[in-house]
Amino acid sequence: MIIRENINLSDLTTMRLGGPADFLIEIESPEECPDAFDFAQEKNLPIYFLGLGANSIGLDEGFRGAIIKNAIKGYNILEETKDELIIKVGGGEVWDDFVEFVSKKGFSGVEAMSKIPGTVAAAPVQNIGAYGQEVKDTLVSVEAFDSLLNEFVEIPAEEMDFSYRHSIFNSGETKGRYFILTCTFRLKKENPKPPFYNSLQSYLDEHKITDYTPENIRIAVSNIRAEKLPDPEKIPSAGSFFKNIYLTEKEVKPAEEKGVPIRKAEKTDKNGKKYTEYKVNTGWLLENADLKGKVFHGFKVSDKAALILINESATSEKDLELAKKEISDKVEEKFGLKLEQEPVFVKEIKQEVDEE
Ligand SMILES: Cc1cc2nc3c(=O)[nH]c(=O)nc-3n(C[C@H](O)[C@H](O)[C@H](O)COP(=O)(O)OP(=O)(O)OC[C@H]3O[C@@H](n4cnc5c(N)ncnc54)[C@H](O)[C@@H]3O)c2cc1C
Repeated sequence: MIIRENINLSDLTTMRLGGPADFLIEIESPEECPDAFDFAQEKNLPIYFLGLGANSIGLDEGFRGAIIKNAIKGYNILEETKDELIIKVGGGEVWDDFVEFVSKKGFSGVEAMSKIPGTVAAAPVQNIGAYGQEVKDTLVSVEAFDSLLNEFVEIPAEEMDFSYRHSIFNSGETKGRYFILTCTFRLKKENPKPPFYNSLQSYLDEHKITDYTPENIRIAVSNIRAEKLPDPEKIPSAGSFFKNIYLTEKEVKPAEEKGVPIRKAEKTDKNGKKYTEYKVNTGWLLENADLKGKVFHGFKVSDKAALILINESATSEKDLELAKKEISDKVEEKFGLKLEQEPVFVKEIKQEVDEE
């Protein structure tokens, strides 16, 4: 266990904002967990869990507490047959290294999520996804430290209440309760099957790629992303700053009257009930509110992928708040829809108690 003091959040997060955190505790093996939590408890410190900070934004005042970071490494192959691979991965592994490892072995299920920045442990938290794949589709379970009961637990994926950018780890009474240590995935030895996302299919056609191996899809996705998404090593951002919007049936008509395209899809919920999903692409809203490429308080609405806010010159999170308000107001004025922020602020994680 490594404990460091006074570490700038701007150095720990890809948006490159935020003052100092009092303590940063890096955990290199699950056994170190109880000591790390005891350390914070004895000093009465609030806790924030951090990976590579690609979906976390530091506040100007920093964090008067302890940041616990998963630095547990390693791949443990639990089962490998000609059909599938079951693999347990240390939560501190870089997500894209894991995707590369399994894609190269010919196993499918995560290749479309190539190049998503961050750790393996953070992947289930907001159920990361890209080009039609989501973590929920291949995750079997996680090992975690339950900070409420001070014990190790294994949580099966069926109990994680996954949906778009949502899980038990980032919502409700269980928000911030479990520190994820390792993640186990089940991947198939097969080629990914079309239909692929339009931009991915266009890339494959253009490059005359018809052999849809996991590795070829990974290379295609990596190249598409390199063209339009900022490299967090060089250009500060937290990826998509706003979430896509899911409408209720009642909200569909007013949105359509304002010209908003809505993608309708028939879905089945976890209880087997059929429903229609109404999805609005927030990138479209930003583009059609004429915000693409515009700069607000040092933050640019990316001209290549409008959902992304690039930190061009800002040093204060207050400027981000101002930029967010101006952008959201413009979208609401034009389309009557409210935008919701995707990345989270580094502050004490509070469980959300249902008031009903
Ligand atoms: C350029 C760019 C592109 C991106 N593209 C995508 C994309 O295509 N799809 C997508 O879904 N996301 C995308 N993201 C968002 C980001 O990559 C993901 O959310 C990723 O999972 C963040 O990983 P991290 O380790 O950096 O998480 P962090 O930002 O460190 O943490 C994210 C959340 O997970 C929690 N957390 C971290 N570690 C643990 C742990 N061990 N146990 C419990 N909770 C924990 C944190 O408290 C926080 O709530 C992008 C971001 C960037 C900068």
